[in-house]
Amino acid sequence: MGIIPVELYQDREDGKPAVGVRTNGPATLQDLLDAWQPLCDDASIYKQYAPDNYSVCRGCQINCCNTAYVMPDLIAVRKMAEYLKTDYRSLIERYMQVDKAEAGILQMQLPCAFLQEGICSIYPVRSLICRFYICTDILGATQQLIYSITMTGITAAAVWAEKEGLVQSMSNRGQSSFDLLLQRLLNEYRSHEQVKLFLEAENYSDIPLQPFLNP
Ligand code: SF4
Ligand code: SF4
Repeated sequence: MGIIPVELYQDREDGKPAVGVRTNGPATLQDLLDAWQPLCDDASIYKQYAPDNYSVCRGCQINCCNTAYVMPDLIAVRKMAEYLKTDYRSLIERYMQVDKAEAGILQMQLPCAFLQEGICSIYPVRSLICRFYICTDILGATQQLIYSITMTGITAAAVWAEKEGLVQSMSNRGQSSFDLLLQRLLNEYRSHEQVKLFLEAENYSDIPLQPFLNP
């Protein structure tokens, strides 16, 4: 068997068990997603909101999708439009918060319009933020890694959407404190070199993990 590029492992941090990932040589964002995916189906790890705290995500009645603030990354925006056979403007108008787009932020409607009878109707093309969310403890270094990748992808979506004329430049009009915080983060991430990796990629497999491991 070949080397697995990214592996999950469990350890303890702050006295509690937590999940983390480690790489075994060069790896891509797709490798990380492939390693992460089984967590949803893993009934051996503690999940804060799952029935009896140990269940697979499928069928979860709490379902994080009901309350999640989902800002899609650039790869997901493109894949969603392709999957739904729609153009970007219609995607934004039908499934995202139009008032936020007018202020430069791409954010899905709340609750997410793709949640149908407790199941994600666009599962193969869902955003990084959806793929990475899991209601269990995550080791600090892994948390930092997935946070920085996700924010970079969200920033790339904002940069691209602005360039395509799909959203307006960021403004402070009628913003909630969450929007202002997000805008501040997006402005901070814009200068990160890794944003280009998302702008130039077609798939998650085009994005190397290394620049996020050693920024
Ligand atoms: S990650 Fe979401 S779907 Fe899975 S158990 Fe937690 S709340 Fe439920
Ligand atoms: S896109 Fe799918 S996984 Fe993400 S919040 Fe919506 S329903 Fe949930």
